[in-house]
Amino acid sequence: MRVLLIEDDAMIGEAIQAALRDASYAVDWLGSGHGVAATLAAQHYDLVLLDLGLPGADGHQVLAAIRGGGDAVPLLVITARDSLDDRLRGLDGGADDYLLKPFAMAELLARMRAVLRRKGGSAAPLLGNGVVTLDPATHLAEVAGQPPVLLSNREFALLQALLQRPGAILSRSDLEDRIYGWGDEVESNAVEFLIHGLRRKLGSAVIRNVRGAGWLVARNS
Ligand code: CA
Repeated sequence: MRVLLIEDDAMIGEAIQAALRDASYAVDWLGSGHGVAATLAAQHYDLVLLDLGLPGADGHQVLAAIRGGGDAVPLLVITARDSLDDRLRGLDGGADDYLLKPFAMAELLARMRAVLRRKGGSAAPLLGNGVVTLDPATHLAEVAGQPPVLLSNREFALLQALLQRPGAILSRSDLEDRIYGWGDEVESNAVEFLIHGLRRKLGSAVIRNVRGAGWLVARNS
């Protein structure tokens, strides 16, 4: 999953970026509210983390611009502003959740998973298609009748992308977009390498290749 982080504080931004990468998210980081609309128009993001105290445009204005443009991307406000007015403006302005600084990274990650579940239309914590089940909190994947296996960060990110839309074919560039952020080096055969690793761990039938088009997991059975 790919996350857009909008945060002007370098220390906080670096800490969040590192924690998100450790949790296998691809992260793009903007240091101000400038360019948010263009960035969201150019790239698919699964979630936006928005600070309110930003140089230039205030976070509330950035939020209003995103929602005003009809973009329903899951969005979590992270801010030191704890006034009731700020919280209400954020939530009424279209934020899906609101987290006060300072926070524990574990709580940020859990709230992100909760927002993503709700936006995905499911209250269940596990992703699955009837063949394989994936736990976003632990990165364990399980095929029925086999013991669960731990996936690497990028194996997890790839399988998660496929399980978000069982039956849909994702091309190499679709998958790269969801696994890698700005500045990440992408080897030309990285996706094939990850697929190979996943098939070795989970069995070759879990991910299907459609020649020349991409890969998919079976639709829920
Ligand atoms: Ca700030």
